[in-house]
Amino acid sequence: MLDSRAGEELDRESQAVIGVDIGGTHIKIALVDPSQKRVLRRDRLKTSADRGPDAILTVLTTALAELRLQARKNGFFVVAVGVGCAGLIDLARGVVLTSPNLPGWVNIPLGQRLEQALGIPVFVENDVDSICYGEYLFGAGRDLGDFIGIAPGTGVGGCLIVNGKVWEGQGYSAGEIGHTTIQPDGDRCLCGNHGCLETLASASWLVRRAEERLSKGISSNLSQVPDRPGGLDAELIYRAAMHGDKMAQGLFHLVGRSLAIAIANVVNLLGIRSALIAGGMANGWDAFVGSLHAELERRLTMIPYTDVRVVKAQLGDDAGALGSAYLACSREALKTGNWCPSGNSFSPPMATATSSDESDGKEGRGNDK
Ligand SMILES: [Zn+2]
Repeated sequence: MLDSRAGEELDRESQAVIGVDIGGTHIKIALVDPSQKRVLRRDRLKTSADRGPDAILTVLTTALAELRLQARKNGFFVVAVGVGCAGLIDLARGVVLTSPNLPGWVNIPLGQRLEQALGIPVFVENDVDSICYGEYLFGAGRDLGDFIGIAPGTGVGGCLIVNGKVWEGQGYSAGEIGHTTIQPDGDRCLCGNHGCLETLASASWLVRRAEERLSKGISSNLSQVPDRPGGLDAELIYRAAMHGDKMAQGLFHLVGRSLAIAIANVVNLLGIRSALIAGGMANGWDAFVGSLHAELERRLTMIPYTDVRVVKAQLGDDAGALGSAYLACSREALKTGNWCPSGNSFSPPMATATSSDESDGKEGRGNDK
């Protein structure tokens, strides 16, 4: 039951694609004009993950239908939707198999549900794949060639961009660098393994380690933060580190060191010479990048350390929605032979933001070393 207009020959100039990034706290939506490589409109919704998949899908469907109407009023026909979602995704069927940060999302046919509601093709991706593809096309990944994308946030997501494509791997499971072992006898990760990168470099573990150290009476300015849920977070620890707090600095040293070990392993295994750091922890870049480079230099013994680039993501919230939109374009093109605009020539400024909540939209911009 596809939209009657979707199958017709439309001018490329009037075709638009919606990119969606479903995260644990917010859903970011962008209406993209692929032919001009520009964002026409941005929206942001609260995910309210605890309400479960049905409630989220209802809110999302309403928002997408409304955006489509707005697009039409402005002369654009939405021909596809790309959705990046945290978790393990069956790309072929558009099914969210599991999603650690979205309670109840097990075998959810997200693509099918949205297609039925909207009547246009919907393509579902892993959220970090979308973010890294967006950065590859238009952001910090533009000049990197092949790279490993690492997105430490609540967990640690990952993505491999190889030959200009997301390397999916068998069962769509490639790039899960967050669950590679950094400390063989380290803490037990949610995945069941011990000493995963996620237990050393994610924001949630950063907070947990800070709380552990404070409970042992280790001196830190952070001991003044109220001991209640939501009292201590990664941003506070970052600020403390930047103000010289030794305990906070030690925690970020661990983050940088662990990321470096993971990156060195990828460099040695795959011959990839670049890494891109995205996700919420990229906001803490200044607090860990020194340790990261020092450790990387120690670990890279087979090739010159100076041959390896590590950059910080640039596009912030736009990366996931843009990546989802363009991945949808390329998948629609594979399916139908329809257009597939791409290429590393997206040029901001993007159109006016319409976000209703910009409070955490400041990630990922700025210096890369
Ligand atoms: Zn793990």
